[in-house]
Amino acid sequence: MRYISTRGQAPELSFSEAMMTGLARDGGLYVPQEIPAMAAADIAALAGQPYEEIAFRVMLPFLGDTFTEAEFRGLLANAYGGFGHPARAPLVQLAPNHFLLELFHGPTLAFKDFAMQLIGQMMQAALAKSGERITIVGATSGDTGSAAMEAFRGLSNVDVFILYPHGRVSEVQRRQMTTPSEANVHAIAIDGDFDDAQARVKDMFNDMEFRDGVRLAGVNSINWARVLAQVVYYFSAAVSLGAPHRKVSFTVPTGNFGDIFAGYIARKMGLPIEKLVIATNQNDILDRAIKLGEYRTDGVKPSISPSMDIQVSSNFERVLFDAYGRDGAAVSALMGELREGGFTISQGALEMLREQFASGRCSEEETRDTIRSCFAETGEVLCPHSAVGVKVAAEHLGATPMITLATAHPAKFPDAVEAAMGTRPILPDRMADLFDRDERVTRLPNDLAALQAHIRERIAN
Ligand SMILES: *Cc1c(COP(=O)(O)O)cnc(C)c1O
Repeated sequence: MRYISTRGQAPELSFSEAMMTGLARDGGLYVPQEIPAMAAADIAALAGQPYEEIAFRVMLPFLGDTFTEAEFRGLLANAYGGFGHPARAPLVQLAPNHFLLELFHGPTLAFKDFAMQLIGQMMQAALAKSGERITIVGATSGDTGSAAMEAFRGLSNVDVFILYPHGRVSEVQRRQMTTPSEANVHAIAIDGDFDDAQARVKDMFNDMEFRDGVRLAGVNSINWARVLAQVVYYFSAAVSLGAPHRKVSFTVPTGNFGDIFAGYIARKMGLPIEKLVIATNQNDILDRAIKLGEYRTDGVKPSISPSMDIQVSSNFERVLFDAYGRDGAAVSALMGELREGGFTISQGALEMLREQFASGRCSEEETRDTIRSCFAETGEVLCPHSAVGVKVAAEHLGATPMITLATAHPAKFPDAVEAAMGTRPILPDRMADLFDRDERVTRLPNDLAALQAHIRERIAN
C-alpha cells in the first residue's frame, strides 16, 4: 500500500513513513493510493467480534509490511486495554432509530484516544526497530493534546510538544495537558486561537531545516494513521445494528473534518452507510460549504463546544482531492485561494460532496437545549460536542438507524454542562485527583521563532 500527497508534489510513502511524516513536504496530506474494499461477507463476519479484532481486520490491508500480524495484534491490545469499557465503543439508544456511539471511555475521555493510543504504540514499535528519536509537535483545541500526552508520556524515543490556545480550553482539558510529570511531554500555551496554533505547527513542518534538524513528526488529525484508526468504530457500530444486511447512517460533530472523513473511508471500503451528516457548531464553514458551495473562512467564534472552534478544516483537503478527481495541482491552487480567504467549489466537486455528505449546524442555545432535553428524556448526559451531533441528527432521522458519535465525556466540559442542565457531571474515579496535581506549562507568543527556540532548547537537555 502506497500513500500519495493531495498536492501531488511529494514523494510516495509507505504506511510507516506516512505515519512518521504527518504533513507532506509539499504542504499536502497523505492518502492511500487506493482504498482496499472489504467484501460484504467479511463485513458480516465482524459481527460479535471484540473491538480489537475488528480493528485488526479493518486496518491490516492499509499497513503494508510495517508490522507482523502478531506484532499488530499486540499493539492493538496495548492501545485499547486501558479503556474503561469492555466494548471500547458502546452504543446506547436515545430514541426510536437513534443511537449514540460513546467514544469517550478512553484514558482522556474523548474519541481522540482511539487514534492516539494506537499511534503511540505504532510509533514506539517503529522507532524501536530503527533506533531513531523524534520530536512530535501538535496543535490542539484541547482534546488532541491531552490524548497525545497520555499516549506518549514516558516513551524513551519521543519528545512531545503540544500548543494550545491560552485561555480557550476547559480546565479539565488544560490540566490533562499540564499535569503529566514525565519529562518528555511539554505543554505550551500560545497567545492566539486554535487556528494560530495549527498555523504555527504547519510553519514548522514547512521549515525544512527545522523539520529535519529536530526530526519533526506530527500527530494532528492530518496524520493518516489517526484517520485510519477512526475508521474502525464505524464498522463496529454498523455491524452491531445489522450491517451489511441493513444500512445505517452516521452524524458526526466535526470541526477539522477528521472524524467524518474516517466515515467516508469506511463507506469507500464497502460499509453500507446511507447518510453521513456533518454537524457543526456556530463555526459552520463546513455546513456553509455543503449548502452554499463556498468554502470561506470567517473568523473563529468561541463556543461551548471548543474542540470544534475551527475555521480552517485541515482534513477537508482530503475529500476535496477526491472531489477534484485526485488532481493535486487543482487542490494546491484551492489551498492558495484559501490563504486569501476562500474559494467557490466547482459544480462537479460540489455535486460529489452533496452526494456524500449532508450537513447541519447547531447554535449555542440549541446546544444547551439539547443537553437539557436529552437528559430529561433519556437520562443520557451529553457533552456539548455530542449535543451538537444529536441536534443535527434529529433533523435527519428516517427509516435507517442513525448513529450519532458522542465525542467526549460530559465531565470534560463540566461548566457548559452544568449551565445547561443544572447538575455538574462528575469525573470517573480514575481521574478524581486531577485537580490536586501540579501543573507545568510554558506560555509563549504566537511567534514561530520563539516556539522553535523553545523546542530546540528543551530537546537539547
Ligand atoms: C476533536 C474533537 C471533535 C472534532 O473532531 P474532528 O477531528 O474535527 O472531526 C469533536 N468533539 C470533540 C470532543 C473533540 O475532541
